[in-house]
Amino acid sequence: MAESKRDYYEVLGVPKTANDDEIKKAYRKLAKKYHPDANPGDAEAEKKFKEASEAYAVLSDADKRRQYDQFGHAAFDGAGGGAGGFSGMNMDDIFGSDIFGDIFGDLFGGGRSRGPRNGPMKGANIRASVNITFEEACFGTEKEIELTLKDECTTCHGTGAKPGTSPETCSKCGGKGQVVYTQQSLFGVVRNVQPCPDCQGTGKIIRQKCSDCRGTGYVSKRKKIAVSIMAGINNGQSIRIREKGEPGINGGPRGDLLVEVHVGRHPVLQRDNYDLFSTVPISYATAVLGGEIKITTIDGDILYDVKPGTQTDTRVRFRGKGVPTIHNKSVRGDHYVTLVVDVPTKLNEEQKNLLRAFEESLNGGAKNKDDNNEETHENSKGKGKRKGIFK
Ligand SMILES: [Zn+2]
Ligand SMILES: [Zn+2]
Repeated sequence: MAESKRDYYEVLGVPKTANDDEIKKAYRKLAKKYHPDANPGDAEAEKKFKEASEAYAVLSDADKRRQYDQFGHAAFDGAGGGAGGFSGMNMDDIFGSDIFGDIFGDLFGGGRSRGPRNGPMKGANIRASVNITFEEACFGTEKEIELTLKDECTTCHGTGAKPGTSPETCSKCGGKGQVVYTQQSLFGVVRNVQPCPDCQGTGKIIRQKCSDCRGTGYVSKRKKIAVSIMAGINNGQSIRIREKGEPGINGGPRGDLLVEVHVGRHPVLQRDNYDLFSTVPISYATAVLGGEIKITTIDGDILYDVKPGTQTDTRVRFRGKGVPTIHNKSVRGDHYVTLVVDVPTKLNEEQKNLLRAFEESLNGGAKNKDDNNEETHENSKGKGKRKGIFK
């Protein structure tokens, strides 16, 4: 990761607001232009092709795109089992969609095969979700999730054939798992490769099925899987656990398990990215005279000295009291506290009289301090007017 990477949107030449279609179109254009088969021996083209493929793999996947938009390339550093990660990404990740067929269909008249169907293939990814609290999302946690996972059947060792028998090689495709149809067309002979219909592309025919797995070669088991959730994760983000998905095919690696994290609400704190926000009421007297108040933070309650003469909606920033960032937990966002003056609504007669006396003392004070009676008079007239409107 020492080499600095170009922005994925820049690589594909699309705006950040591009939709899936625009991203796909942009990638197809680049993939055609730079594909190694179209540029034999051109290292620069190959580099461009890889770069475009990587950008497309991320931007075409809603989860990965969200992570990229939020964290940039850091989202895929993969350090410490991070979210996403390219190391270990295989061609199926990159070419998982129909785009493979589209491009090479265009380039090679459909004659290109994806390699033998019965070769090792990565298993499918599985999706799961986990609920965590607001605090757990801020500081990270370990969770255990239980899910049904397929495993190789121990009775038949994954062959699907009854013990004592073994699968036969498919006679239609000779065990290749695919059949080639040759067609004469206007443009010459077109070779069309398709999965073998007799063996569904496995290359094998099972005459006597294993009774434990009904010939599938797999059994499902409930399993507990530990999920390490990093500090700073946000609601809706997913954690990729490598090779905990569906078993691979023909000795291929297992797919991945993608665990979507659902974060609960906090009674007081709201989160926006790595910053926290809260509103704290202060009494009228505290706003005027100043005083100590208690503020709830993600690290626990703290005492804060309100300055005398604090206006309502004053925002106070507590640096580094926000959420730890996902790739470096010692770097934290900020916590913004809005101080709102709590205007009392239920006062008894004595309290009302005290306030009236207080108001009068203010007006009196103004008179003493300022000899301009006219202005004072206008002010009180104005106040009377407003009162009339609101009564
Ligand atoms: Zn079996
Ligand atoms: Zn076959």
